Amino acid sequence: MPGWEIIDKKESNAIQKLFKKEGGVLFAHGFDKFRKKYHVRDFEKLAAKKFKMNYAQAVSSGTAALKIALLSLGVKRGDEVITQAFNFIATIEAILDIGAKPIIVEVDKTLNMSVTALKKAITKKTKAIIPVHMLGVPAKMNEIKLIADRKKIKIIEDNCEAMGGKLGNKYLCSIGEIGVVSFDFSKSITCGEGGMIYTNNKKLFKFMREYHDHGHENNKQLPRGMDTRSIYGFNYRITEMQAVIGKVQLSKLDKIINMQKKRYNQLNKKLKNHIELREIPKNSKITYDTFIFFIKNKLLRNQIIEILNKKNFGTKNLPDAIKWHCSAYWDHALNSKQIKRSISTKNILSTAIAVPISLKRTVDDYKNLGNLILEMLT
Ligand SMILES: *Cc1c(COP(=O)(O)O)cnc(C)c1O
Repeated sequence: MPGWEIIDKKESNAIQKLFKKEGGVLFAHGFDKFRKKYHVRDFEKLAAKKFKMNYAQAVSSGTAALKIALLSLGVKRGDEVITQAFNFIATIEAILDIGAKPIIVEVDKTLNMSVTALKKAITKKTKAIIPVHMLGVPAKMNEIKLIADRKKIKIIEDNCEAMGGKLGNKYLCSIGEIGVVSFDFSKSITCGEGGMIYTNNKKLFKFMREYHDHGHENNKQLPRGMDTRSIYGFNYRITEMQAVIGKVQLSKLDKIINMQKKRYNQLNKKLKNHIELREIPKNSKITYDTFIFFIKNKLLRNQIIEILNKKNFGTKNLPDAIKWHCSAYWDHALNSKQIKRSISTKNILSTAIAVPISLKRTVDDYKNLGNLILEMLT
């Protein structure tokens, strides 16, 4: 949760300024006479520019972003949407919420979508594919896109966990038709809750903008109460306060990734020749959110986890929140066939340890941790 870890005066000053100097309007739209700024619209512009995208739509959460992305592509009740077994439940919830059918595919040693499994899972009913860039590492988007393009299936990149990451010279979120990020409290940058939907497609953006705001077309010639509409939507807006914080946090993203990189590299340098690490696709720029390695020996694995807990690093997702991140455990949402399609993933994940990279800890803390783990291995 690096974004939250470096919240400081900058965020609180910006909030103070909103109330003391800018009129204190909390709503994204209208009230023109009372305000000096439109922070939500600003935040969207900055967020689009940052990742070289034409359009960005701010919404209330990453989960809402996924749902609106699916709706914008015209995914309907009964359609199939493919996503992966190592994930967060939100992706499945967004698919289920619109009445579509989640189709699970296994992950490989990148811990992201297996390209072979994806190929096998596509049917005539497949309407969208949601690869997830889990814990800072890009999915194999080149291969996934080739398959999707050939079958004319749209891709939504779930980039809630790898904001700022790249594959080749392209930012994650810009490779598929749509990309989504989250600003919830645990993410790379945060405004408490929130999300952003990215696309270069004007028509999709128009739908997103209207749908997230009760269908409002924001017709400039009309007062809001007389606004035109062509679809009905829902309320997935964010407030000016969230956008004020989001803007400051966005300006810190590069710094956050660099700080994480320094810490991550301490572990990487020490351990890479002694241990099997998570595979990272070629030409990736990762975001150094989590350092993941595999230990097959159960006793040793437990000993390392114990050390991580004792030294107050803890683990991230693997294993501490595995039940929220592996679809093998989601029998409250998925049928037995889907659960079976998660078994190989469960087996891979059960040998993995995920070390969170925390900005509250020093670079030396990670150096020492690397030495400690190395001692246990050799
Ligand atoms: C956090 C997360 C989401 C959901 O984001 P919220 O803003 O918490 O709704 C979706 N997918 C993944 C992979 C996530 O990590």
